[in-house]
Amino acid sequence: MTLVDSDVISRVEIELKKIMDPEFVLTGHETILYEYDGSVERARPDVVVVPSSTQEVMSIMQIAARYSVPVVARGAGTSLSGGAIPLQRGIVLSTTRMNKIIDVDLRNRRAVVQPGVINLDVSAEVNPQGFQYTPDPSSQKASTIGGNVATNAGGPHTLAYGVTTNHVLGLEFVTGDGRLVKIGGISRDVPGYDLVGLMVGSEGTLGVVTAITVNLMRIPESVRTMLAVFDSVDRATQTVSRIIAEGIIPAAMELMDQGCTRAVSSWMPEVNLPTDAGAVLILEVEGVEAGLDEDAERIVQICNDSEANEVRLANSDLERGELWAARKGAFGAIGVLSPNYYVQDGVVPRTRLAEVQRRVNEIGRGRGLQIVNVFHAGDGNIHPIILFDSNEQGALDNVMEAGEEILDVCIEAGGTLTGEHGLGMEKNKQLPRLLSRSDIDAMLAIKDIFSPNGLLNPQKVFPPGMSCRLF
Ligand SMILES: Cc1cc2nc3c(=O)[nH]c(=O)nc-3n(C[C@H](O)[C@H](O)[C@H](O)COP(=O)(O)OP(=O)(O)OC[C@H]3O[C@@H](n4cnc5c(N)ncnc54)[C@H](O)[C@@H]3O)c2cc1C
Repeated sequence: MTLVDSDVISRVEIELKKIMDPEFVLTGHETILYEYDGSVERARPDVVVVPSSTQEVMSIMQIAARYSVPVVARGAGTSLSGGAIPLQRGIVLSTTRMNKIIDVDLRNRRAVVQPGVINLDVSAEVNPQGFQYTPDPSSQKASTIGGNVATNAGGPHTLAYGVTTNHVLGLEFVTGDGRLVKIGGISRDVPGYDLVGLMVGSEGTLGVVTAITVNLMRIPESVRTMLAVFDSVDRATQTVSRIIAEGIIPAAMELMDQGCTRAVSSWMPEVNLPTDAGAVLILEVEGVEAGLDEDAERIVQICNDSEANEVRLANSDLERGELWAARKGAFGAIGVLSPNYYVQDGVVPRTRLAEVQRRVNEIGRGRGLQIVNVFHAGDGNIHPIILFDSNEQGALDNVMEAGEEILDVCIEAGGTLTGEHGLGMEKNKQLPRLLSRSDIDAMLAIKDIFSPNGLLNPQKVFPPGMSCRLF
């Protein structure tokens, strides 16, 4: 880890206080609040800046470039892959003051927002007119659009509507050397390279995003939400494959295993989740009212054919809301089961879910670790949550090794290293298992264009020691 000399940091602090309100240049005790994100890693920044405008972001990046100080952009800090951790200390650039919805154009179904806008606030703004911003990570009450763009966030409704990249039309961002770049626009088809696609999911290594043009969708006319109860995770995952094989694409198919339903039940008893079941599926279909009951009935039939113990239909908006609150609050509920937990994020072909879940449990048993599961089953996007106590000697190493083994299993099954949380500083080590050295070099060549000094979120995405190109 390369750290910046304290004299340099002092000079950078003086420069930063000249270009922005000094109240928002933090170097004291409060910087400890920025040493965490949602992962198990931590590192404390030397300086935290909280700019209020794109112009300030440009000036910050120019100062950082002049003094060769690394910069890590930070939204809400809910990253589950250590993405927002300032591994080389330096500057953390928090976007929380850049939280304005700049423009809403309902006739063209577009909105332009600053990066610090919270995901759910976009929908809250346009819901009264019958519109929504569709990507709905379970962290949507907290996570920001800037963070969602950087990680290409998904969510329960990814199955039908795609991930963040499918809902971003244009971006404004500041490069590692302080240049302003605008890409994409209000229409979907911009000629030339798909630079918006390149930026979305680049985990803060190519630029600091300062404005985002997002697509808005009509709120579906009707929705049916079901809870199907199974004896085992095997049966539940097989049912997921059968539903897709029948040609039905539900809006969401989310799985919670017994460990998860028990944790959620003790936190939300009013949802009445079955605590003795091996697994439950939350299934949702939505769209125009005509034909929706038939789709729901076909799903119920497939669940029954797959030996579901019970299939419940949510009878009111309240019941539907409770089911989703249970699902989206699952990570929080699991927090009471152990002092710490580590969330993994792999993807496997849906048809391999049952066997991969068995292997995940074997890995847990072999290492004496309890693992609970809640995941986007429809996408084959698994989230084994490994419980541990960081005060126990060697516990964190054991957990991290288990996480790597789980991802190896995903790769062996024809899957990949991340469905939505990004590679960050945790899964980057395994990238060479998926990509060749020349693939990685091609990505590094692109990084050099936008971040020529390598100061943007260093040691993320790429494996340690591979941050330089060979050619
Ligand atoms: C309870 C819980 C549930 C979650 N559920 C989901 C889920 O369902 N789906 C999902 O995809 N994720 C989920 N996550 C993970 C996390 O919420 C997402 O990765 C989210 O997109 C991060 O947003 P953030 O604002 O917190 O970003 P941060 O954590 O602050 O940062 C994440 C990454 O984005 C970069 N970044 C942030 N802002 C910018 C910017 N303006 N410009 C450039 N780079 C930037 C950071 O450098 C970092 O690499 C969950 C997390 C928690 C804690």
